[in-house]
Amino acid sequence: MRGIILTLFIVLLYSCKQHEDSSSIEDQQTKSEVIVYEEYSGIEPTEPEATKIYEPVPPTVAPYSQNGVPSDAIVLFDGTSFDQWMMYHDSTAVVWHLNDDGSMTVKDKTGDIRTKKNFGDVQLHVEWRSPVDFMGEGQSRANSGVFLQGLYEVQVLDNNDNDTYVNGQVASIYKQHVPLAKASVPSGEWNTYDVFYRAPEFDENGDKIKSATITVVHNGVLVQDHVEIKGTTPNIGWPKNPPHGKGPIRLQDHGDNSRVGYRNIWVRELQ
Ligand code: MG
Repeated sequence: MRGIILTLFIVLLYSCKQHEDSSSIEDQQTKSEVIVYEEYSGIEPTEPEATKIYEPVPPTVAPYSQNGVPSDAIVLFDGTSFDQWMMYHDSTAVVWHLNDDGSMTVKDKTGDIRTKKNFGDVQLHVEWRSPVDFMGEGQSRANSGVFLQGLYEVQVLDNNDNDTYVNGQVASIYKQHVPLAKASVPSGEWNTYDVFYRAPEFDENGDKIKSATITVVHNGVLVQDHVEIKGTTPNIGWPKNPPHGKGPIRLQDHGDNSRVGYRNIWVRELQ
């Protein structure tokens, strides 16, 4: 008799546990948010006209109007001058090398440069190359960088036969996001970065209420897919989130004779 009672007790405990497990799964399921499109709810239209939209009309952009640059882009560097740029640390005239072939080259240990104009949401096109006769290893081989709003670095680095930590390799969001692929061309050839960036937002107290997001295409290959920028991209320490408004495009002088070249830089301000 005692054995029967004990068996019944164990069966009861087991069934309670099963019920508990299944209800917790149900709880998890009900916690998931179901996506509802209000504009596509209600009585479904039966005529094509009911689901057509005519306004607002998107602006027309001629894609290759100014030497291959979109008609609404601001040309930041076309090889003729540094008119759109200044030194980052003291806003003086740029001392980097302006080359005869329509490019510029980082002048070692002179400091970063920045655009005179500040930007928020942008589409940015940058071309860069590392020298053929490279020097250094790891992070010391053709290290530069493209900073959005002066704060958030898309890494520029010669990683050809030159491994480093992956969240600091070419096309990483430095120390935050490993690129989806390494899509570099051979050293000495021109790389393209096409960047799609949405700026962060801060409330009246200076607290971040929306993170920046960034998508990067490297030589036509998607390498950053709408990732969240969690703050600044320092070499040492955590990302920080100082409140800020619009900021410059900034190019890095890493200070170890990178000799990275840049050319054909343009930007479209996004709404
Ligand atoms: Mg860098």
